[in-house]
Order: sequence, then structure tokens, then C-alpha cells
Amino acid sequence: MFGFALLCVTWKAPGQALPARAAAAAAMDGLNATAWVQSSVEYRASALQAWRLAAVSLPRALKDKKWTAALEQSGKFGKLPPAIIVDIDETVLDNSPGQARFLLEGNGRYTRDVWMRWTAERRSRAVPGAKEFLQAANAKGVTVFYVTNRGVHEEADTRANLETEGFPVKAVAGGIGDTLLMAGEKPEWTSDKSVRRALLAKQYRILMLCGDDLNDFFAARIPLEQRAAKAREHESWWGDRWIMLPNPMYGSWEDALFGFDRTLDPATVQRKKLEGLHRD
Ligand SMILES: [Mg+2]
Repeated sequence: MFGFALLCVTWKAPGQALPARAAAAAAMDGLNATAWVQSSVEYRASALQAWRLAAVSLPRALKDKKWTAALEQSGKFGKLPPAIIVDIDETVLDNSPGQARFLLEGNGRYTRDVWMRWTAERRSRAVPGAKEFLQAANAKGVTVFYVTNRGVHEEADTRANLETEGFPVKAVAGGIGDTLLMAGEKPEWTSDKSVRRALLAKQYRILMLCGDDLNDFFAARIPLEQRAAKAREHESWWGDRWIMLPNPMYGSWEDALFGFDRTLDPATVQRKKLEGLHRD
């Protein structure tokens, strides 16, 4: 309460540097978001709804040979075998305990060290509804590809974690290796997932993209207005070909608020977020 009052009294106008207490508060930005994911029925319901929508779409997607969810897909793809591309973190695996560790053990901000220890423990639980849908799709002959920005050195732990949680993972032909496509596994597999989507779209008809971040659908490291404009071009795809999972904890939606500049200090980040709010 005292901290809130201090913030109200001392924060006067956009552009003014925030005092130290407010900077500390900025570092706890993730508290509400992580609490929501970990404890709310609202989060669980949102995730279940997303995956159930995917299940409703799947029969139509399979039947309609002109159907594709990938902007990278072109040419004659009607006879290609069907596939679904999913992201991993906060799409099929819940890493909110990792986020909780940033808050409980550090200053609330991401640190690579804490994150790597978390993924190495292989203890991420399935996002509600994800396993049931992907098992059902797999049983219908749809190959499930995991296109993740976890690094290649995390592949063994990630595969073990996915398998423990009951997700389908398998070897595939066509120079892809297996259904787990990690960042950096090949030189051209950068954090921009377009290259990996394009590779899969040459060999499979992509029925659905599922993610928690706009980059899971198209390259979205672009200014806010451009992200919104490009997404509007395909607005009818949400809940149909594109399945979005809720993630208020982190993502490119947040980075876009401060120009993707991770070198900024917490006070500047919070000032930019405040400047981005509108009152009407
Ligand atoms: Mg993710």
C-alpha cells in the first residue's frame, strides 16, 4: 500500500525517470500474470477453450484439401500428408514455476541460468487440454511438429519432458530428423520460426498453427501497429486455423511495447509501458 502511494505521489508525467521504489515495482511486473496462470480457473478455462476449438476445426481442416494455416505454404499442397505445428513453452508445456522462480529467487526478471535449471529438471506440466487434442490428432494420422525456440542443447530434456507428459514425439523422414525442431539445430533455424515453417510446408499440409506468441504464426518482431495490421489480414483464422493460448507472463507482445530492446533498465521499460496506456 505504501509502495503504491509512493508511486502515485512521485510519478508525475511520462518522460520523467521513475524513482527507485517504482523501479523495484517494475521488476515485479510478472507477479499478477504468474499468479493468474498458476492459480486461476480463468486461465485453465481459457486454455481448455483454445484446445477444444482446435478439436472442432480439425475434421474440416482434414477434409478441405485447399486448407492451410501456414502463410509459408504455396504451390500444390492438397496431396501432402497433414501436420499441425505447435510451439512448446506456454502452448503445450506450462513453465509458470520457472516464472515463479524469477519472482521468488531473483528480481522478477528472466535470467538464463534460472531458466536453464528449470528446463533441465524436465518438470513442466502439460497445458490443460493440449495433450488430449494432440494425441487425438496424432491418432488420426496428423503429424505433430514442435517448433520451439528452446535451444538444441535443451532437446534431450525437452523430449523427455514432452514424453513424460504424454505428448506424441517421433522420428520423421525428409531431412527433418524428428518432430522436435529446436532453434539452432540447423544454421538457418533462427529464432524467427518462418524458416522452419517453410521447410515443413514443403512436405506437409499445415492444418493448424498453435502458439502463445504472434511469432508462432508469422514473423512479428515488428512495431505494434504493424503487428496489429498484419494480424487483421487473417482475423478470421483465430480459433480456426490459428489457435492462440493465453500467456500474460512474457512474450513479444511485451517486448513490442519497448521496441524489443532488452538492454533497457526496468524503470525505462515501465515508463514506456505507462506511456503506451490510454485513458479512453
Ligand atoms: Mg511459447
